[in-house]
Amino acid sequence: MDLVFSEEALQYRSAGHPESPDRVKTAYSILRNKYKTLPPDQATVDDLRLVHDKNFIKRVREGNFSNPDCPKYDDLFFYATLSAGGALKAQKTGNISLMRPPGHHAGKDYLGGFCYFNNLAIAVRKSNLKTLIVDFDAHHGNGTQDIFLGDEQVVYLSLHRSPGFPGTGQKSVKNAINHPVPATIGDTKYLEILTEALDGLENKGFEQLALSAGFDGHKRDPLASVGLSTLAFEEIGKLLNNLDLPAFAVLEGGYVGKDLGKNINAFLTGFNG
Ligand SMILES: [Zn+2]
Repeated sequence: MDLVFSEEALQYRSAGHPESPDRVKTAYSILRNKYKTLPPDQATVDDLRLVHDKNFIKRVREGNFSNPDCPKYDDLFFYATLSAGGALKAQKTGNISLMRPPGHHAGKDYLGGFCYFNNLAIAVRKSNLKTLIVDFDAHHGNGTQDIFLGDEQVVYLSLHRSPGFPGTGQKSVKNAINHPVPATIGDTKYLEILTEALDGLENKGFEQLALSAGFDGHKRDPLASVGLSTLAFEEIGKLLNNLDLPAFAVLEGGYVGKDLGKNINAFLTGFNG
């Protein structure tokens, strides 16, 4: 995997907000010399409509919403569709999109947790492939689970900190396999749970692996640490690469820029072998 990114993702900010351009700017400065960079596509309203409700799209476009985690930025619709387009480009080319805002807390008709549109879900739907989604962000991807719940083309697997935001994902339901883990779990136990969960999904005929790549499980992350080291992300990359499926990834969380860059590099080192 290489990178999908454009500096336009760094053009908006809200003072004091943890989902800041600085986190990705610092991470990208660490990664840019080692990996190739492709520009994102721009998602269209038709792309958004693959997973989102028409009126919800209109509300986001018009800034007709209120959520303290999701500020109304100038030109938000441009940046959010560019981030969704990053996921589309990543899917087409087998790379990781570092575009922001993230997406896995956005559902069919709601936003939340720094997310406006569900970038990964849009790319999965557009591909029309039987897909295994693995969400290793330290928060549960409630939006992704809701969008695909009962969809026979998709299995959603998530490991996430509990108790923690958004509070969902305490149990597995239908095609959503949820593993809530304590904040103190650390590398060994986390990797055991992931290994076992992936073993249970072998030979199910998946055509694609889609990764909600969140790095806020790192031990220094201020939002949702589950005590992981940087090396754990390399191991996660290896385990996922062992599935031997065409794959793409989109960045979700990870809030310390320097650690984020190192952790993405570790993940790519493991995944790319
Ligand atoms: Zn997160």
